[in-house]
Amino acid sequence: MTTNQDRPAIEANGIRYRWPRQPVVVVCIDGGDPAYFQRFLADGAVPNVERFIRHGFSVVADGTMPSFTCPNNMSIITGTPASRHGISGNFYLDTATGRPVVMTGPELLRGDTIISKFAAAGARVVSITAKDKLRRQLGKNLDISRGNLSFSSEFASRCTLEEHGIENLLDFVGMPQPDMYSMELSLFVLEAGVKLLERDRPDLMYLSLTDWVQHKYSPEEPEAQRFYREIDARFGRLADLGAVVALTADHGMNDKSDAAGRPNVIWLQDVLDAKFGAGDTRVICPITDAFVGHHGALGGFVRVWCRGKATPRQIVETIAGIDGVEQVLDKSGACRLYDLPADREGDVAVIARADVCIGGAEADHDLTGLKGHRLRTHGGVSEAKVPIVINRPLNDEYRLKAAVATLKSYQIFDFVLNGTLNQ
Ligand SMILES: [Zn+2]
Repeated sequence: MTTNQDRPAIEANGIRYRWPRQPVVVVCIDGGDPAYFQRFLADGAVPNVERFIRHGFSVVADGTMPSFTCPNNMSIITGTPASRHGISGNFYLDTATGRPVVMTGPELLRGDTIISKFAAAGARVVSITAKDKLRRQLGKNLDISRGNLSFSSEFASRCTLEEHGIENLLDFVGMPQPDMYSMELSLFVLEAGVKLLERDRPDLMYLSLTDWVQHKYSPEEPEAQRFYREIDARFGRLADLGAVVALTADHGMNDKSDAAGRPNVIWLQDVLDAKFGAGDTRVICPITDAFVGHHGALGGFVRVWCRGKATPRQIVETIAGIDGVEQVLDKSGACRLYDLPADREGDVAVIARADVCIGGAEADHDLTGLKGHRLRTHGGVSEAKVPIVINRPLNDEYRLKAAVATLKSYQIFDFVLNGTLNQ
């Protein structure tokens, strides 16, 4: 009988990955800023994470810029920077039509996912995401008919064997359909992962949560601690079932409100319209998706496209003087510095300081969903640090790698499959 350790390594996007000897579970804690682990480790609220750190490997790594959900999930699942996989936000502007294009379609994702390459070689793989917007890209080229699964907790009640590889999911997981704006949306993902590990022992699982809690609650608030206690308990169950468990995040999170609780916003489209005239430039906020109640589509990174007379240089000069802007770059500078795909980059990229966010036109953002909460959001360099925790120690080769350079979060599959002992 062929065991997994005899099988040839699987190549995905130029990197070779060893077969897992035991189930490997990679969890992306959406919005899991290192500050949460820091606080809850000190409080003793995450005993399983503490155990993983004590006996395994942990580090703070660089996430993909911009520090948004889609680019980072795609970096993790492909093992590549955004310049390779092409997903640099939720939206980009199609310069041919002048319309914003949603970037969540699998046809826009370049290269292969690591899990689809393993599945094609006969591995059993599972991808579960909280928000359905990620599901089709995470499941790109994944053959569901062969016992592999790809579903979201957002549409858990609608899962079918044909499209997701599983039906009657609510009964199987033992939870009701979670609300979009709830911590249960993330807990459902982990609970489903635990149940599937018990039942099927798949070779590889990717579990991606949602950042609703982190947008709403700082590490000091009891709701955040309750959420981390809940997810920690499930990490412990995955580990106790014999899985190699690797935790990371897509991005961090920062408070971007003033002392009175009002958001510190640069309304960039209004600034540029006042200077160059309406319609001359187009600001795109790549954080925007269908669910913006918890952040009002405000993030720490926006792109500007030139649509008229203003040149990128004039735009850069105008923006550079605005208080709260940390960095303003033209297209080639942004692509070089942050490893971004040039064909989807704006003419100018603008990054906010840690305590500031950037919007388009004030009239286009609905902030009523914040309901008295301070605005916490992400997108900039100050939210691009993420934790990596693996419940196994590294082998010598990977310990050296980790010692001499800052890890990228998209190396997590490489580290967990090729770099851990007992794997
Ligand atoms: Zn996210």
